Amino acid sequence: MRLGFANCGLAKAEPVADRFAARFRRWLELDYCAGMDYLRRNVEMRLRPDLLVPGVKTIVSLAMNFMPQSRQPAISLYAQGQDYHDVLRSRMRQLMQDMSLEGRCFVDSAPVLERYWAWRSGVGVFTQEGGFISVPGYGPTVFLGELFLLQEADHYDSPRPSKSPLEGDFASSPFFKGESERVRREPEGVLVCPALTPDGLDARRCISYLTIEHRGPLPDGLRLGPTFYGCDRCLRATPQFAEAQPTTEPAFQPSPSLLAMTPDDWPALTEEQYRLLFKGSAVKRAKYEGLMRNIRHWKTNHL
Ligand code: SF4
Repeated sequence: MRLGFANCGLAKAEPVADRFAARFRRWLELDYCAGMDYLRRNVEMRLRPDLLVPGVKTIVSLAMNFMPQSRQPAISLYAQGQDYHDVLRSRMRQLMQDMSLEGRCFVDSAPVLERYWAWRSGVGVFTQEGGFISVPGYGPTVFLGELFLLQEADHYDSPRPSKSPLEGDFASSPFFKGESERVRREPEGVLVCPALTPDGLDARRCISYLTIEHRGPLPDGLRLGPTFYGCDRCLRATPQFAEAQPTTEPAFQPSPSLLAMTPDDWPALTEEQYRLLFKGSAVKRAKYEGLMRNIRHWKTNHL
């Protein structure tokens, strides 16, 4: 697509199907959302698109490839370049303007079950490892955004067929992890992650959550890999990761100065360097204090 999207799909703006809604509620009851209290708010709105945007008829799910051409290993793949919220939002607004669409666009900015809608509209399939959405030809390294449109569509898409036994089941989503998935293969061996439970991803034990969203000290003994901002291990463990194609999108490439950082440079990172290095980057979510906390922990608890 001209605006850089890897795929898009259309779904009727109906309430989220009962079995998926029930699993989401269960996941919240178990406290697996940890400190992400915004997930506890507006639960009904998250499950009923018409409560979020009255009069919504169509949900368009859009995916954009973020796989960078090179990477700084200390930072998760998705955060190598510019903040995806800004990039996707501006492209989606452009799309709405070009096509005279009425409605609203969201990129992690409202109570929307984005992976559900990507699955429901046929944009991709759930991966069994980590419950990502994998787009055929691009793999699971995609950002998702949604348009909530007031117009009806002439045609709606269906979920894609898949060989996965979990196809069509939200058990494979990040919130709703399926059973027998605690151990999964990685190219270099076996990944065992205690955050992956039969009832979903327990954010309280997830390195990605802890190093990005969590405020306060990291748990004693938490073992980080080569990455101290986020964690790509379950993403890389998906068979579909082999489909990931480096994007030509300039916004998602790391800067030369980020690439040049070595493990020995990070502990001495000053606030001024941090501001320059991560200008316009999603890494700023952790703030300087949070990033330095991660770096200190990483230096002493590196796998
Ligand atoms: S992101 Fe890392 S810590 Fe979190 S579930 Fe995946 S492998 Fe486990």
